[in-house]
Parts: sequence; C-alpha cells; structure tokens
Amino acid sequence: MTLFDSPAFEGHEGVHAFSDEKTGLKCIIAVHSTARGPAAGGCRMWAYPDADAALTDALRLSRAMSYKNAMADLELGGGKAVIIGDSRRHKSPALFEAFGRAVEDVAGKYWTAEDVGVSPADLMHARKHTRYVAGLEGHPGASGDPSPVTAEGVFRGIELSVRRRLNRSLDGVTVAIQGVGHVGAYLAEKLHAAGAKLIITDVNEDALHHVAAATGAKIVTPGTIFDADAEVFAPCAMGGAINAETLPRLKAKVVAGGANNQLAQRGHGQALAARGILYAPDYVINAGGIINVCTEYLGDGDASLVRRRIEGIPVRLEQIWREGSETGRDPAAVADAMAQRLIGRA
Ligand code: NAD
Repeated sequence: MTLFDSPAFEGHEGVHAFSDEKTGLKCIIAVHSTARGPAAGGCRMWAYPDADAALTDALRLSRAMSYKNAMADLELGGGKAVIIGDSRRHKSPALFEAFGRAVEDVAGKYWTAEDVGVSPADLMHARKHTRYVAGLEGHPGASGDPSPVTAEGVFRGIELSVRRRLNRSLDGVTVAIQGVGHVGAYLAEKLHAAGAKLIITDVNEDALHHVAAATGAKIVTPGTIFDADAEVFAPCAMGGAINAETLPRLKAKVVAGGANNQLAQRGHGQALAARGILYAPDYVINAGGIINVCTEYLGDGDASLVRRRIEGIPVRLEQIWREGSETGRDPAAVADAMAQRLIGRA
C-alpha cells in the first residue's frame, strides 16, 4: 500500500519528514488541513517501533487536530509533529533546536506546541529557530502548560455524560482513569473534589502513587483497567484504548477522557453505541488544551475567551448526541461528519 492509499492519509495537504544526523532528530510533520487557518497541533515524542508506526500516528493525530480545531470553532487548521525517540533518554536542547528548524522549514503552515513526551522547556529550545511555536512558559503572551485546561474540559464533559447516561451527579460515581500523566492527574483531582471514586492505572509507578496519595484512588495494573467496576472509563494515555479486545470487557456506561484517537477503528464508535455505552468524541471533549494554546498562537484572547470556549465543549457534545439520537448514528460518526462539514470536506 502506498502512502496515498493508506486509510490514515485521508487527504492530507502535506507530509514532511526531517532528519538531522548531528542531533539524531527524526521527525514527521503532518499537515492535514489549512482550510480554517494554519495547521496547529502539538509535537509528540515517542519510542515508535518503526517509521511506519510514527507516520500512522502523525497522520491520525493530524486529522484529529483538524476536526478538533473546527469543532471548537477555532480559526486553525490541523497538523501534528512526531519525533521518533524515547523522551526519557534521547532528549537534548540541540535536538529541539533542530526540531525548531524543521518547523520553520514548513514556513508557517504548521504551528507546534507540546504533546506526550514534550514539555514547555523543550519548546523554548525550538523557539530559538521558529516563531511557529506556542504552549510556552515564562515570556509575555505565553499560555503555559495546556494540560490543566484540557482536564477542565474533560471534567465538564464527563459530568455532562454522567448526567445524560446515568441521570446523576458525579458524587459517588466510579471513574476508571487509564494514564495519570499531565491530563489524567489534573482530571483525577477534579473528579475527586466532585466526590467521584477513582480507579487508576499507569505504567509510571511514581505518577500512580502520587495521584493515589492525593485522591485515595485504587490502583490497578494497566492490563486490568478495562475490567474495572466503574460507571465511567476515561482513557488519558495513548491512542487505541477502545479496540476489539478491550471493548467487550468494559463495564462502564460512559467512555469519556482526554486521550487522542481513543477508538482504534472508526467502527468502534458504533460498537460502543450498540453496547449502550455513551461516547464523548475525543477531539471534542479534549479541546481545552488547544483552546488555551490558540490565544497564544493567534494573540486573540485572554482567560475570559478561554473560559467561554471551554463552556462550548458541553454544548458541542449535546449537539452531537442530539443529532445522533435523531438520525440513529453513533456519536463518533456524527462528530466526524460535522467536523468534515466545518472544514469543507463533507
Ligand atoms: P503524559 O505523557 O503526561 O501522560 C500520559 C500517561 O499515560 C503517562 O503517565 C504514561 O506513563 C501513561 N501511559 C502510557 N501508556 C500507558 C498504558 N499502556 N497504560 C497506562 N498508562 C499509560 O501525556 P498527557 O499530556 O497527559 O496526554 C495524555 C493524552 O491526552 C494523550 O493521548 C494526548 O495526546 C492527549 N491530549 C493531551 C492534551 C494536553 O493538554 N496535554 C490535550 C489534548 C489531548
């Protein structure tokens, strides 16, 4: 199969590969759409098994950013960068400077920020060579770590999902969180404060114990989180948490979390609906981070605009679920069609 036939390619405007021998940088920048504005999306650093896996991830994440930015009504297109490497072992200031040069080469069609494995401090090195970077800390106009804002949007989405599916508040509801990194840890705090009971897992023991100590969460192994006795399953780690193997094991009535690309395949949205599980489409519920970063990209707003846009997340979810009920389609399919209309690809 060629790149152009791959299901993940789906009309990308551009895919750029960069390598830099001196620093070991190997990165892919995928530009899905610039129809609504510059293709904005974070940079992920991950130890992909091979370049094909990195390419597929970049393409899927990039398309999701187009949909996310459109559904949040931002004047941004969608793109994503991935750096191939273990963020705990292969990071260096020089590597992120080389990444900055790669972003600059795309000449403003792609604007970067942080994603898994990349911090605001890393991006400060990239910024030495490109203007097209946000999610920074410590300089005028910097919007800082987007994760707390992402978690706020996800929290509101979970609250609404529970109200819709179970007709109750979060008090006493059990939420299983897969991944308690940046987003998952902030989300756990908010859910705990709202009276929810938590079951958590992570492959990082330190993160796990830190969150458990702060929230009283029960810890389970990564392989058993899908069997948790919980009303809500909140994927907050890597993509593909909902797949043919995990889907039949879920006891939850709601799937709503911060991770990108939660469904391994599009058809899994239909399978969730068939099992009576309410799904909050990932790129709608987790838009808080880009909403926050957007004010830095475009220099067009402040905290009150961010707040208003975050309040738009539950409104958009309601719209999707309503259209789903009226048309008999599952929420993931409804959201995809709505997003495609918004970027002019219906
Ligand atoms: P992070 O790296 O801080 O956290 C991810 C956590 O998941 C880590 O603690 C990691 O150890 C854990 N993890 C990885 N594989 C796991 C597995 N198999 N089982 C259990 N835990 C596992 O990243 P983050 O910024 O919190 O992002 C989490 C997810 O949310 C990603 O999918 C990211 O793309 C998405 N997202 C993040 C933001 C943001 O503002 N940070 C915004 C939108 C979407």
